[in-house]
Amino acid sequence: MTPSNATGPRAAHALPSYLQADHLGPWGIFLQQVDRVTPYLGDLARWVETLKRPKRMLIVDVPILLDNGTVAHFEGYRVQHNTSRGPGKGGVRFHQDVTLSEVMALSAWMSIKNAAVNVPYGGAKGGIRVDPRQLSLGELERVTRRYTSEIGLIIGPTKDIPAPDVNTNEQVMAWMMDTYSMNVGETATGVVTGKPVDLGGSLGRRDATGRGVFTVGVEAARRIGLAVPGAAVAVQGLGNVGGVAARLFAEAGARVVAVQDHAGTVYREAGLDIPALLAHAAAHGSVAGFPGAEALASDAFWDVPCDILIPAALEQQITEANAGRLRARMVIEGANGPTTPLADDILRERGVLVLPDVIANAGGVTVSYFEWVQDFSSFFWSEEEINERLVKILKGALDTVWQVAEEHRVSLRTATFIVACHRILRARDLRGLYP
Ligand code: GLU
Repeated sequence: MTPSNATGPRAAHALPSYLQADHLGPWGIFLQQVDRVTPYLGDLARWVETLKRPKRMLIVDVPILLDNGTVAHFEGYRVQHNTSRGPGKGGVRFHQDVTLSEVMALSAWMSIKNAAVNVPYGGAKGGIRVDPRQLSLGELERVTRRYTSEIGLIIGPTKDIPAPDVNTNEQVMAWMMDTYSMNVGETATGVVTGKPVDLGGSLGRRDATGRGVFTVGVEAARRIGLAVPGAAVAVQGLGNVGGVAARLFAEAGARVVAVQDHAGTVYREAGLDIPALLAHAAAHGSVAGFPGAEALASDAFWDVPCDILIPAALEQQITEANAGRLRARMVIEGANGPTTPLADDILRERGVLVLPDVIANAGGVTVSYFEWVQDFSSFFWSEEEINERLVKILKGALDTVWQVAEEHRVSLRTATFIVACHRILRARDLRGLYP
């Protein structure tokens, strides 16, 4: 006999199978994070199920002609997690391991992030399961254009606005903008952000995520009495986020002692020469083989003595397997979802401060918002103005969540989720159900 179970698959509110947590993947992690804040949501908790179900998900086939004359098919996704506070907003990543579950989690984290910094957006994310390193430039353009045409059904300047993410850049955004514009018959600059400055992009957007990581990090360091000059910093990922953050911390007098990327880990106790390391990585595709540094085994990165650790690569890097080993006082999450909930608990017990992704890397989408506003008004701001507004928003957001964390004695991540979920569900409640 099957026991009756209110949360079983037959219950009216049971999640569809593809939404159920496996407690291993990013979507499972997001569901756990929502469960942690539900007790703090008061009356709004009656809407919390909304967050556990993305509003709209599109899976598309992306066929392209390869240079060798054959046709290849890739799987593409665009997930709009929530649009209660405004249009969907979030990047597009090209990676061989992208899955629907991952894109669902990334879109949900965008909802939280956008609400946390109070930009008028919901959350969305897209991806193509492809290794762009295996494609020629022409093939990359064809993949991008076909994908954009396919998701053209649901994106648009007031509907859902993509942007760069892992392995996508200004050129990819230019192709996306052009493809969408050609299909609708007008130049629609506001359909994507992170575009080249010559095409309606914003000054400061390229560095914005890394600058945000640095800004939030410096502000948190001040609050815990950690001096940035002389502090030892370890960075995982030397892309658009980690590379900029490493440069800014080095310029502020910190010692960037270790950098890890997909192909190598380099270490120098006195501090790596970051401009030289960035030039080496640009020329060789990796930090591996950088002269003037010691090469470390990949796993040894987590044992490096440092004050600040910046994971700025992919999800689920800090887990229960290595959280007990970290030597840092503070973790600044440049990546989305780099720390699992179990690792979060271990770090909190050990007194390591975690600046969560949904605040720490929100600089990118904040300047995306500035770009979108500039595109709509066709009036462009100076870089100083942009950076000034960026710093103001991020410091204000950190201040708010810091207070909530102290008030409820919770982590900054839980505090950020409390603030963001309140904002999202308040909007949901005010709008009501229709039809
Ligand atoms: N992909 C970035 C993120 O994860 C930026 C998204 C955007 O600018 O829309 O926050």
